[in-house]
Amino acid sequence: MDPNSYKEFLAQRRQEIIQKVHDACQRSGRSAEDVDIYAVSKTVGVPQVIQAMEAGYTHFAENRPQELVRKLSEFQEQGINPPPFDMIGNLQKNKINAVLGTAARIQSVSSVHLAEAISARATEKNLVVPVLFEVNVSGESTKSGFAPEELAQWMERLLDLEGIEPQGLMTMAPAHEPAEDRVTFRGLRELRDSLETNTAASLPVLSCGMSDDFEMAIEEGATLVRLGRIVFDPQYTPASD
Ligand SMILES: *Cc1c(COP(=O)(O)O)cnc(C)c1O
Repeated sequence: MDPNSYKEFLAQRRQEIIQKVHDACQRSGRSAEDVDIYAVSKTVGVPQVIQAMEAGYTHFAENRPQELVRKLSEFQEQGINPPPFDMIGNLQKNKINAVLGTAARIQSVSSVHLAEAISARATEKNLVVPVLFEVNVSGESTKSGFAPEELAQWMERLLDLEGIEPQGLMTMAPAHEPAEDRVTFRGLRELRDSLETNTAASLPVLSCGMSDDFEMAIEEGATLVRLGRIVFDPQYTPASD
């Protein structure tokens, strides 16, 4: 697709997404200002990210540390200020240094071990990294993340860690099971509410909802939706509901 028509596509699709966010907020008595749209750019390159910025997107996310760092250095080489990129994918300990100081936030802090390792390295570097705790709400064995009761059990300890600033929770809905999606998103919000009631935690950010289920996620309280295909892929058609 030629660059101009791709840019037009991005801008028009963005208006459609904003409308859907707005409608979902209205259905659930929320304000559209309370929902941040993150463009997940893992399938596209820096030129497309720049076009997306021109189309109005301000926040981006990547699921692989190497690719996040690579995109940032490409921005630097071109002398362009990069937008903030959140890290949203599986993070191995040997990649922590790569994302410290580069990722705007780490949404995928999926275990106490990982939180402690990030804390130690961030403290060495005199950094405080905003983080979300990734929760495996649906309990699928293939999925990473804290079990809800595990997070509840460790919350005070996690709040004491230096070098990280917990801002909220993140989850992924189970694939191919729309009925389970809503239960998952609701479970994330209820877990957040109970953590705030039972500990000193303040966890305003709820990151859930992707291209196929973000409207439902918003109805259930999402404050941050992570959208990939629906933002960047002209071929993408939302599943009918
Ligand atoms: C790819 C990805 C997304 C976006 O998924 P789409 O279905 O393309 O919207 C969201 N979150 C994570 C963690 C991802 O890896």
